[in-house]
Amino acid sequence: MWKLASNAIAGIRSKKNSDVPKQVFWECSDDEVCSEASRDEELECPICWESFNIVENVPYVLWCGHSLCKNCVLGLQGSVLKLATRQMRIPIVISCPWCHQLSLRVVYKGNLKFPSKNFFLLWMVESFNGNEGKLDHSFNSDNQSVFSLPSGTVTSERRRLFFYNHLDCVIHLVFKFLLTVIFVLIVVFVIPGSALILLLYLLITLLFALPSLLIFYLALHALDKLMNDITS
Ligand SMILES: [Zn+2]
Ligand SMILES: [Zn+2]
Repeated sequence: MWKLASNAIAGIRSKKNSDVPKQVFWECSDDEVCSEASRDEELECPICWESFNIVENVPYVLWCGHSLCKNCVLGLQGSVLKLATRQMRIPIVISCPWCHQLSLRVVYKGNLKFPSKNFFLLWMVESFNGNEGKLDHSFNSDNQSVFSLPSGTVTSERRRLFFYNHLDCVIHLVFKFLLTVIFVLIVVFVIPGSALILLLYLLITLLFALPSLLIFYLALHALDKLMNDITS
């Protein structure tokens, strides 16, 4: 079980490292100048190819860093948890279509509360549309302030991504710790318990089998004596 779990974790890690996402949204640093075409691609949802905007196609960033529009995030099916014989779908956990890394999805009263909006992409959309400076603040479909382009928005968004990456690491560590605890409990309690039950079973079997064997032996002996009497 431990080996299986370790393999699963290793599989996730290797997959995470080997897969190259087709869309990378954080390629351009502040000093780099991105081409118009690549910027255009970055401002589209990689699933439905609709352009991101601040009203309907609000970009949301998953824990892995990939961004999808709100409709695509809502359209993703929950991840499947495979137990021994049955499968269970968990609606609050979704898998990124690009790198298959898991993210949390919380929908409350029809509004997407988690993952959070990608404010950096929103800022890029606004800049690309040439409306920068015209809007002090905008409202999305949830009637919440989307952004007002404060100078620290980009930095805070990067901090947020940094936080989510570390949260992901912490969750993996906690998962490994729980598996270790379960493994230790199995070694300490379950294996000796099973051995004890097996021993009891053997003892009870022998206890009931001995009288039967004795009766069989005596009957055989008596039968043998009877046969000798008849023949003589
Ligand atoms: Zn989409
Ligand atoms: Zn991803």
